[in-house]
Amino acid sequence: MSNPSATIDNLVIGGGLAGSMVAIRLATAGRQVTLLEKERSAHHKVCGEFLSREAVDYLRQVGVDPLELGAATIRYMRLSSKRKVVETALSFTALSLSRFTLDAAMLSRAAEIGCDVQRGVFVDRLTTQDSLWLAQLRNRKSLCAQTVFLANGKHDLHGWGRPSTGQCDLVAFKLHWQLGRAQTEALREFIEIFLFSGGYGGLALVERDVANLCLVVRRSELRRIGGWTELLAAVLDDNRHVQYCLQGAKALWDRPLALSSIPYGYLAGRPSGLWCVGDQAAVIPSFTGDGMSIALHSAALATEMYLAGESANQYYRRLHAQLGRGMSLATLLSRIMVTGAGRNLALFGLSLFPSAMRWIAASTRVPEQARLAHPEPPPEPQGEAH
Ligand SMILES: Cc1cc2nc3c(=O)[nH]c(=O)nc-3n(C[C@H](O)[C@H](O)[C@H](O)COP(=O)(O)OP(=O)(O)OC[C@H]3O[C@@H](n4cnc5c(N)ncnc54)[C@H](O)[C@@H]3O)c2cc1C
Repeated sequence: MSNPSATIDNLVIGGGLAGSMVAIRLATAGRQVTLLEKERSAHHKVCGEFLSREAVDYLRQVGVDPLELGAATIRYMRLSSKRKVVETALSFTALSLSRFTLDAAMLSRAAEIGCDVQRGVFVDRLTTQDSLWLAQLRNRKSLCAQTVFLANGKHDLHGWGRPSTGQCDLVAFKLHWQLGRAQTEALREFIEIFLFSGGYGGLALVERDVANLCLVVRRSELRRIGGWTELLAAVLDDNRHVQYCLQGAKALWDRPLALSSIPYGYLAGRPSGLWCVGDQAAVIPSFTGDGMSIALHSAALATEMYLAGESANQYYRRLHAQLGRGMSLATLLSRIMVTGAGRNLALFGLSLFPSAMRWIAASTRVPEQARLAHPEPPPEPQGEAH
């Protein structure tokens, strides 16, 4: 392992939405920042790709507009289970854009405003030494930093694992499809949420009329059924509406992306001085469609508090106060939804009370009063008077 070169001020590990947001906001405030992302180029991620209004607001604040990148508009939700289908209007206009496009745009934005973005760099380990951080890289180099923002998302960095949480027995799959013409039109402006034995999922158009199918299933159910092929067959058999949506559809990849051991309900609080953001700070169950907004919010909050001279511990306390209630409610609902009784209840509730869905959506989002504005860039240095 080579010796680290000069100490850098701010290191961001991970170039997803949270990492890019930290980098952009630090660079805007005139701070030096280096961001390391393990993937060499734009890549797909397991995600429903549904952007809530709060997420869109945070993205626009930093100059990334999903609509300009081709995002699809979503105004309605359709919930289906077995043979039943109910619809309701969303209380806000949402957007849907592939993570392939969105994350690449955020990283470009970070580089554009002066952040040192290094792609294809995998951080293997992170340790502390004399109140500095040492990041050991897979390329056998290392970096020394005064402050580290941990934004490595779904997977844990060696030695910095998140503990098991409220619901960590789900496996997620995601696959892009080209739907039939009629099905594409029927899906326009809708997000489909579907329930099936042991799990739930979503289907929505992203840019260029590609449809994104993303679902989670209990690990025990998946084991019982077999694998992805058997699971998809079981979902189509169980839910007639999803069967119709995928009739004649063509999968755009050979295999779906998969992810296991998602620590739903996790809310960070590390006593180490490390600034964890995004999924490293909070993991809300997927059906709320608010993970990205929480990732962006935690990144904005951490950066703001850091720039104001507050500590990482103070940041975690604030984050708990803002998100704790919504996270507990979402995790409880997610647990209920993967049970047979839960899915009947969900349909019954939605058909009787569309406003119940609005209440759930409002209760599991980043509270309005907690949302942050983009900071002003520092003033230009004044030239000497002539
Ligand atoms: C099944 C599922 C469906 C979801 N659907 C939605 C939805 O519809 N809407 C919504 O708002 N949210 C959704 N979410 C949540 C959302 O995907 C996450 O909250 C969000 O991606 C978190 O962003 P992040 O930046 O923290 O992590 P990520 O997006 O995972 O980014 C982390 C980055 O770090 C990089 N990295 C990882 N390890 C290293 C390393 N060691 N060294 C260097 N780089 C590293 C990765 O390559 C990656 O680019 C869903 C999540 C799941 C699991």
